[in-house]
Amino acid sequence: MINSILKQYWGYDDFRPLQSEIIRSVLEGHDTLGMMPTGGGKSITFQVPAIALGGLTLVITPLISLMKDQCDHLVERGIKAAAVYMGMTHQEILETFERVISEDYRFLYISPERLETRLFQAKLQYMDVRLLVVDEAHCISQWGYDFRPPYLKISNLRQLLYEIRERNKKPWVPIKEFETLDSVLSYHTPCLALTATATPEVIKDIQDKLHFREPARVLKTSFERPNLTYSVIYSEDKMGNLVRLLGNQDADFSAIVYVRSRKKTAEVAEYLTSQGIPADYYHAGLSAETKQQRQEAWMAGKPAIIIATNAFGMGIDKPNVRKVIHIDLPPSIEEYFQEAGRAGRDGLPAEAILLVSDSDKLRLCRHLLEEYPERDFIRHVYGRLASFYQIAIAAGLYNIFEFDIFRFCSVYHLAVQQVHYALKLLDQAEYIQYIEEPDRHSRLMFVTSRESLYHLNQFDAECQRIIQAVLRLYSGLFADYVYIREEEIMRVTGLDRNTLYEKLLLLSRFHVLHYIPARQKPAIVYLTPRLEDQEIRIPYTIYEQRRARQERRIDAIIHYVENNQECRLVQLLDYFGEKLDHRCGHCDVCLSKDLKGNIHEEKAMIRSLIIAKIQARGPITPQQLYAQINMNPERVGQVLREMVEFEEIIYSDNILTLPSADS
Ligand SMILES: [Zn+2]
Repeated sequence: MINSILKQYWGYDDFRPLQSEIIRSVLEGHDTLGMMPTGGGKSITFQVPAIALGGLTLVITPLISLMKDQCDHLVERGIKAAAVYMGMTHQEILETFERVISEDYRFLYISPERLETRLFQAKLQYMDVRLLVVDEAHCISQWGYDFRPPYLKISNLRQLLYEIRERNKKPWVPIKEFETLDSVLSYHTPCLALTATATPEVIKDIQDKLHFREPARVLKTSFERPNLTYSVIYSEDKMGNLVRLLGNQDADFSAIVYVRSRKKTAEVAEYLTSQGIPADYYHAGLSAETKQQRQEAWMAGKPAIIIATNAFGMGIDKPNVRKVIHIDLPPSIEEYFQEAGRAGRDGLPAEAILLVSDSDKLRLCRHLLEEYPERDFIRHVYGRLASFYQIAIAAGLYNIFEFDIFRFCSVYHLAVQQVHYALKLLDQAEYIQYIEEPDRHSRLMFVTSRESLYHLNQFDAECQRIIQAVLRLYSGLFADYVYIREEEIMRVTGLDRNTLYEKLLLLSRFHVLHYIPARQKPAIVYLTPRLEDQEIRIPYTIYEQRRARQERRIDAIIHYVENNQECRLVQLLDYFGEKLDHRCGHCDVCLSKDLKGNIHEEKAMIRSLIIAKIQARGPITPQQLYAQINMNPERVGQVLREMVEFEEIIYSDNILTLPSADS
């Protein structure tokens, strides 16, 4: 059955090895933790069982763009899916929930912040949830590198789902095909947690925090990628090294260079280009359009090299990336491993290279200080923010504001980095939500019926052209918000951007349609009514504890680059709790060991050959000896000279002899 679902909706004949194991475990009703490397086909592991189970599958993920992409893909395949996230209006959210319930949707993607809202909890009573999926599950663990407090609320959701089943006397039952001996009727709704990498302590923590029920399953493949070589290169001339590593490549070559600051992306790209190596750059601060355009250009190989911050890569699956080079030391092995793993997805040889210098360590420690500004400063930023938006004490709950950090900082003479981290801490302490990721698509939905569109004579010709164009270009506009592209409508109607924008707003005002323009800027949402600055508390668990853990992660990656005695792959996998029984054989450590070992062995072999030849042949000239030994004459000469120096062999009148036993 699951194979026919895969075939019908995705067109594949077979699952990848771990996929079918995870799917089976879920369908048997086990709480399951699936660990799959990025690009390993993670979404199939919950989308297939969701379709098999029927009812609704709730997918919790913090990544808004990923959520939208997956929804789009499902809808394209004719599967009903919707998403609810921060930044949508109350009305939009309400309408989405209503549709999910009344139209038998299969998927509801939801961001973790929405779980505790009264609206969601009320609507949940009417949803037939058969599977709970927690994507990026490491976010639930304070031990992980990307802890998100709203994830902790998922355990409440599990409890709530239990209570709903119990009240309705509707236990969860596996479909017939997947009934096993341990299948028991229970009010638990199974939970599938997914993550790419996690250390053993994080794995344990995920299971605890999600209240995994025995017999729970942890399923993972080895993280070994035999085609990928990890290397660490000490370099005080990183740019020079970069040019050597990236120059003179084949036409099919592609590479990502990761740096830790936005400014540096442009500088490095410029430098490489000036050296005859065309490169582009990417970071989260670029406009949505530019980002999309650069990503697409790089995907098409024009240019083949992109210099990026860690904002680049999520959801990118380019097969022929031959090199991923880090020129700044990332703050954790988790991040390094994930970014490095974008090389060699096609299975062909690829390299992950980390260039380090002495200043890297210092930079990481300094950065840690920046990430945890003084508590007074955080309160100050909170207060300024309220003045910026003119929010009175006790007002502002759930208000959404566009947020331009540069403008904000210039108005109050604050440093951008510090403000950024202060806002992040305020976000973690749940006073505000700091949305850094803008919504790059506009959306549109008709709010009148199709019939009434025929009587729109009160609008001008341009409005009518827009309506016709929109109807021709997109479908489903009467049921849901549909992503639109202004460029397409401009092309069909021949209108310019301003006119189009103006007319769409006009039509919105007259309740013909509802148009939500793309949000180009990050946003701030107030999660509590505005408080007095002094009332702001950043808890110990968010401040001191997190900082201590971050220090440990920094120590771990510093140890990784400094440990040149153990194979890089063995070290990396060991960090994630996987014990490898062999060396990789091609990382910098392995190569230098092989070289040392070989030199030693080779020398011993040449030495014994020389002695054997002279013993057998009697005194001979060096030229005769070289001809007798079928090896590189230079190496033989080198060993020979050493032997003469140590008087193991006598050399006189161009003749080689062994010293006599009695001399
Ligand atoms: Zn190795």
